Amino acid sequence: MFEKFAAHAAHRVLRFFAIATSAIAASAMSAPAPVHAAEPNVVVTIKPVHSLVTAIMAGAGTPHLLVDGAASPHTFTLKPSNAKAIQQADVFIRISESLEPFTRRVVEALPSKVKLMSLAEAKGVTLLPQRTGATFEAHAHSGEHDHDAHDHDDHDHDAAGHEGGGHGVQDGHIWLDPKNAQAIVAAVAAELSATYPQNAELFAKNAAEVTAKIDALSSDLQAQLSPVRGKPFIVFHDATQYFESRFEIPAAGSVTVTPDAQPSAKRLTEVRKKIASLSAACVFAEPGFQPKLVAAVTDGTTARSGTLDPEGATLTAGPELYFDLMRNLARNISNCLTPAT
Ligand SMILES: [Zn+2]
Repeated sequence: MFEKFAAHAAHRVLRFFAIATSAIAASAMSAPAPVHAAEPNVVVTIKPVHSLVTAIMAGAGTPHLLVDGAASPHTFTLKPSNAKAIQQADVFIRISESLEPFTRRVVEALPSKVKLMSLAEAKGVTLLPQRTGATFEAHAHSGEHDHDAHDHDDHDHDAAGHEGGGHGVQDGHIWLDPKNAQAIVAAVAAELSATYPQNAELFAKNAAEVTAKIDALSSDLQAQLSPVRGKPFIVFHDATQYFESRFEIPAAGSVTVTPDAQPSAKRLTEVRKKIASLSAACVFAEPGFQPKLVAAVTDGTTARSGTLDPEGATLTAGPELYFDLMRNLARNISNCLTPAT
């Protein structure tokens, strides 16, 4: 209820900006222009993908970001101005309906002139099933539901991953595997080149640069993470398996509490027992997750705590964000798992 009132108040404040923005948009639209001759109009859902698209478009324009600031793609709600931006875009880029549930309705009613890219389905992107099995916390309990995970037993952590399809829910945090990031870059550059052929050469050059930069990033992180390989750690919100899988640093478990949900006292006790039984060296929270809850599960254990920001909630949007996000993950994992001397 309170959330609803707060949302209404926020809408009222935002309406002013929405009116101002649509007036500007209307005046920009008033002159008849050939299709796509103007600056590219590309809308992207989340920061890590926006970062890669920004780099691809450098010199031709800047994509519009929807989930900005500390907002989470899992709980984001579209404002009327956001919906309008999507409907007026040439290209709308998201990961998937399950990662960004707020895109479902707007995509169902998408004007046919808007090209939709769902990157979870892009060529070359490897998908991993959402972890819910025995090693990872089972979703048998009622109450705290993380994402839309269904109970299923295919928790094969060492699987190479399904390519598309599959009966289970796929984990949508695909950008955390640098190989997926490169597949995203290739797919986006191809789509943008088809939409704006006059910029195709620029997009190809930018995409090649970003791809090489991701290769360098990947080698750096492999070197940085190899000393902490095999040390058990636990994550709060299970968002990092693509990173773990690529760099061979599997998490021992997840407490499967969403950043916006309050876990019960019983749940915290279960988590504390789990940390002790695994001898986990480190427990990672996320920005927005209350630090005292981390303390509540690590108190009385030898586990240290750290923070991971797999969605870039604490970072400023832009072409460097993807690289900062990945380096921060590696640094925070490596620091937390390396005992102070
Ligand atoms: Zn997430």
